[in-house]
Amino acid sequence: MFTFVYAAYKAVCCLRVSRWSQPGPLALYQPEISRLDLRRQWIAHLLVAKANNDRATNEKGGWLREAQAWFVFALFLLVVTTIALVLTSVFTSPANGAGGQPLEINHIDVGQGNAVLIISPDGETAMIDDGRWTNCAPTVSFVTGKGINHIDYHVATHYDADHIGCLGALVDAGVSVGVCFDHGGSKNTQTFANYVGACGANRQTAYKGEVITLDAASANPVSIKVVDLNGAGVSVSPSDENALGLDMKLSYGSFSHEFGGDMPGEDPDIESVVGPEVGHVDVCTVHHHGSKYSSNDDWLNDLTPAVCVLSVGHNSYGHPTAEVLDRLHAHGVQVYWTETGSGAEPGPMDHLCNSTVTITVSLPDNYAVNCG
Ligand SMILES: [Zn+2]
Repeated sequence: MFTFVYAAYKAVCCLRVSRWSQPGPLALYQPEISRLDLRRQWIAHLLVAKANNDRATNEKGGWLREAQAWFVFALFLLVVTTIALVLTSVFTSPANGAGGQPLEINHIDVGQGNAVLIISPDGETAMIDDGRWTNCAPTVSFVTGKGINHIDYHVATHYDADHIGCLGALVDAGVSVGVCFDHGGSKNTQTFANYVGACGANRQTAYKGEVITLDAASANPVSIKVVDLNGAGVSVSPSDENALGLDMKLSYGSFSHEFGGDMPGEDPDIESVVGPEVGHVDVCTVHHHGSKYSSNDDWLNDLTPAVCVLSVGHNSYGHPTAEVLDRLHAHGVQVYWTETGSGAEPGPMDHLCNSTVTITVSLPDNYAVNCG
């Protein structure tokens, strides 16, 4: 230990010490080293240097110069240690979870439909819906373009063809699926049959309060809670897919994001029942592609979102409607659109992306909404 410290000390201070040392009979201190190996020669050299230094120290005023040299050396150690600590804190910052990446929520531009890909800081994945069966290229290219060949969790909000139409195409493209969560039951359509086929034995019926956790081993996991489903206790027709759909709340740090498919807020009004269960969120989804029967005032009062994402494309329903956009704007909501749709035009509080709407979240609660 002494050898190491003294070597470091000499590396910093030797020039000054040697300048302070007077020429003298160094040979007196030179041991016989011709028979020593290289390592022993090096140690012997240090001993000679120390002896030389001790001699200089013993001269008049030498102790002062020695103290100055040690002070310079201590200062050097302090600077090196400080730099090392700063670098360590930069490269091991826990700001974004163990993986060091921000949480990514991608509302893929799938035209008139819905598909969301969530990528956790540690690289785990969840999909909420996957797009319309007639237009699967955007979903497939986006997922595979991210280098993803496995979806850990897939959640179907409901069984309409614009929400579960592309899981089969993803599987055909080589993307495997972990667990498929949905509201149970069945629907007599080819799209539903294809969805069930893609899920295989991994299909599970979700229950109210169920939580899907990404990065479960992390100090900062991402939780996706099934807030309610199957009409939320309201009596609805068993064929009313929109009313049967799941509503979910993602939480990461203090950030939160709601996902609700095509949930109605009128005839039947499911939103007013589910709203208090969701509570405040930073970001919401504009239900049912901007239908005037969704995103009602009670809902917006309960969620008080700053941003909502509108997934819409060419359609025959006049989505998005001016009524729902007016409501959103009156509640101070900035609306990000994947496309223009076939209804109202974007206004000053609307952001038309014509691409994926991407939300990135860094802890504790910094999030950004961007197009692309
Ligand atoms: Zn829909």
